[in-house]
Amino acid sequence: MAGTYIWFFRSLPLLVLLIFVYNLPQLMPGLRPILSNPFWAGLIALVISETAYIAEIHRGGLLSIDNGQHEAAHALGIRSFGKYRQIIVPQAFRVALPTLGNQFITIVKLTSLVSVISLSEILLVGQRLYTRNFLVIETLVAVSLYYVMIVTVFTWAASWLERRMDVTRRKTSEREVPVSTEKKEIVRSARKIGEEIVVDMKKVRKAFGKKVVLNDISLEVRSGEVVSVIGPSGSGKTTLIRTINALQDIDAGTIRFHGEDWIDGNGRYQLAKTFHDDVVHLGMVFQSFNLFPHKTVLENIMMAPRYHKMGSNAELKEKAEGYLHKVGMAAHADKYPHQLSGGQKQRVAISRALAMEPRAILFDEPTSALDPELVAEVLRVIEMLASEGMTMIIVTHEMRFATRISDRIIMMEDGNMVANIKSQELATAPEGERVRQFMAQSEHG
Ligand code: ADP
Ligand code: MG
Repeated sequence: MAGTYIWFFRSLPLLVLLIFVYNLPQLMPGLRPILSNPFWAGLIALVISETAYIAEIHRGGLLSIDNGQHEAAHALGIRSFGKYRQIIVPQAFRVALPTLGNQFITIVKLTSLVSVISLSEILLVGQRLYTRNFLVIETLVAVSLYYVMIVTVFTWAASWLERRMDVTRRKTSEREVPVSTEKKEIVRSARKIGEEIVVDMKKVRKAFGKKVVLNDISLEVRSGEVVSVIGPSGSGKTTLIRTINALQDIDAGTIRFHGEDWIDGNGRYQLAKTFHDDVVHLGMVFQSFNLFPHKTVLENIMMAPRYHKMGSNAELKEKAEGYLHKVGMAAHADKYPHQLSGGQKQRVAISRALAMEPRAILFDEPTSALDPELVAEVLRVIEMLASEGMTMIIVTHEMRFATRISDRIIMMEDGNMVANIKSQELATAPEGERVRQFMAQSEHG
């Protein structure tokens, strides 16, 4: 419907549309009172034709927004309306702005066309003038000046708005934060694995076309447990963890979350009204961070807690600053994501997940997009969370890290779970043979 509208009115020359609208009362006499006034006829024709263009410009803006932004909103339990209002539209508008500015200038100039149906528009006024005074050139110069003036004012306003919305131009500064001198030694420690099964997957199956990507996968993760998922690229690791917070639907099987029905192969539970409220208890950290680029670091962290009304503004701000402090990013609270290194971005993303006080956090290769020298700072934060007893499922290529911090290692291969083994038993158990092989390979690769 909208597509047809856009297609039709963008193909139709404005002049044709204009004359048609003006003469429409011949077909529908009822419209005469409005349309016999050239101003209204002109306005209506312009609006019809321009909305088609402008809709297309906005569509372009919306399409330019990376899918990761939608996924981050999903993981933070932000529903469609809130997502578009706070995340998608502000960014899309920024993208569309220069083109929109252009389009409005075109509109201003197109008003001269309206003179065809004898609107007392500026060009026509000029024509009338010079038929009387014969100062053709002078009058046309005056008319041109008038247009140039309008367009100049307009361009100026548009570029002012553009600059205002451009976060890359904003000046930000680092906060003074007292550096704590005590270096907490992170140990794989007194951490206790609880009785509660936080994530309980049973025979989860997912195929893309004929390719089975998850072949009846079952997995139990207990509270406080750290599980690493390893395996060759394309083996289904990402798909596996994305099913847990319903970023990926499943064909069959069930997933229970802290003892309650959560997801099944019929998609029943994720349609429940409370799904968005519950999904926030599962934090997610993406390979490509998916921070909100138009918000400051602090706003990135506060957005979801504020959306879910988890406290007063002052409380949420204090908490957010606490989480930033925890990951060593307190000094950068007022910066925008583009002003941070990859490692810093990922640490912000982790504190954004922490701010929702999740029961478990899912990590999808949190260090794979980082320069080698930045990997350690992120792993250190994850290790700290592990020692504090956070339940975590981590897809990773960092083999040494995986064996050091995780309680259990899962290996995926071609959609099958080929190993599910306690870290302590990795070195000795026959079941660990394939894992050892793969790890040795990865170390050399
Ligand atoms: P890994 O994270 O282990 O590298 P993935 O879970 O991303 O693997 O992908 C597993 C397989 O599923 C790959 O063959 C991939 O091409 C395929 N796949 C993943 N997502 C989709 C999708 N949305 N549509 C079609 N195929 C997909
Ligand atoms: Mg992956």
